[in-house]
Amino acid sequence: MSRYFDYAATQPMRQVAIDAWVAASGAVNSGAQYASGRRARSVLDDAREKVAELLGCEPIEVIFTSSGTEADNIAIQGLYKAGNTNRVISTPIEHPAVRDTVAQLKGAQVDLLPVDRHSHVSDLSLLDTPADVATCMWANNETGAIQPIAEFAARAQAAGTPVHVDAVQVAGKLPINFHELGLTTLAASAHKFGGPRGIGLLLAKRSPAPQPIAYGGGQERGIRPGTVDVASASALAAALEESIAEIPSESQRVGQLRDALRAGIVSSIDNVVLNSSEPMLPSHLHVSFPGTDGDSLIMLLDSLGIEASTGSACHSGVNRMSHVLEAMNVSEADGIGSLRFTLGRNTTQEDVDFVLQELPAVVARARSV
Ligand code: PLP
Repeated sequence: MSRYFDYAATQPMRQVAIDAWVAASGAVNSGAQYASGRRARSVLDDAREKVAELLGCEPIEVIFTSSGTEADNIAIQGLYKAGNTNRVISTPIEHPAVRDTVAQLKGAQVDLLPVDRHSHVSDLSLLDTPADVATCMWANNETGAIQPIAEFAARAQAAGTPVHVDAVQVAGKLPINFHELGLTTLAASAHKFGGPRGIGLLLAKRSPAPQPIAYGGGQERGIRPGTVDVASASALAAALEESIAEIPSESQRVGQLRDALRAGIVSSIDNVVLNSSEPMLPSHLHVSFPGTDGDSLIMLLDSLGIEASTGSACHSGVNRMSHVLEAMNVSEADGIGSLRFTLGRNTTQEDVDFVLQELPAVVARARSV
């Protein structure tokens, strides 16, 4: 039996999502004019309307993509193409879906907002000068740090800058209201909240809208052309609805388990560095154990059936400290031996107790080699 502590990477599909997917699995091309096409279209419209209602936008602003990565790419490349300042504002702690997209924008001057020791954006003044797009993650995938998104959006808007928010870690965990925040675009991904892998969401205001970065049959306002996966869209909507309904109870339950895990680790292991601090998602715990390396910790835990992560989204095969920890000014000596535990809806007290029972010996062993 494995104890899964990698919910920030992906999570098992919710039964409501499986049921919705199966029910819509026969749907044909939602763009076709004949009866079966119209039926598919009606399933897709229902999914779009449900998502719009849940995330505070209009149905027309909901664009189904293949992933969070694709949604981030369309928003950032597309808004950059639509702009005329050649300037982009971002942060040094973005997921590679944003970080690498920003890095390849041709001719862009990229300004990064500073972050503090616990990966919270600490100064917004770069937003006072206009740019083609200002992009910031709502919560960091490694540490769970929640960013000051309302202030970020308001400050960018005051300078006339379109705002993209990578809400991949937040959708289904915190309430989202796209219009209230005045965002231009927002990215989310179904598999992070119990929907299928392979479908994501881009919310995109009518204007300014990202210019297309791919061309084809004009589906999804021409912003994401290609025949839409109706069954997955339906499953995404069902998973989002259930996860949002569970936010109050699950935040509390998961947060208590995470706090117990943190307290147990600190009291049973010497020289632990906590890299997560409030405001943060209740699901995340990022800790460093100086004198170890992350890959050895993962392998030792895996041999006991405990599935955690080093937190880094890069899998180059080389055990390096992540760019997020680097931006937080964590020393290489501390950061190299890091673990990210992320908890979710199937995590139990027994799972946490098992980690607390095994981890001290695992860390001691990793420190002894
Ligand atoms: N953005 C963040 C913050 C993420 O955590 C992830 C996935 O880990 C992504 C984007 C990419 O999402 P997807 O796996 O759907 O491409």
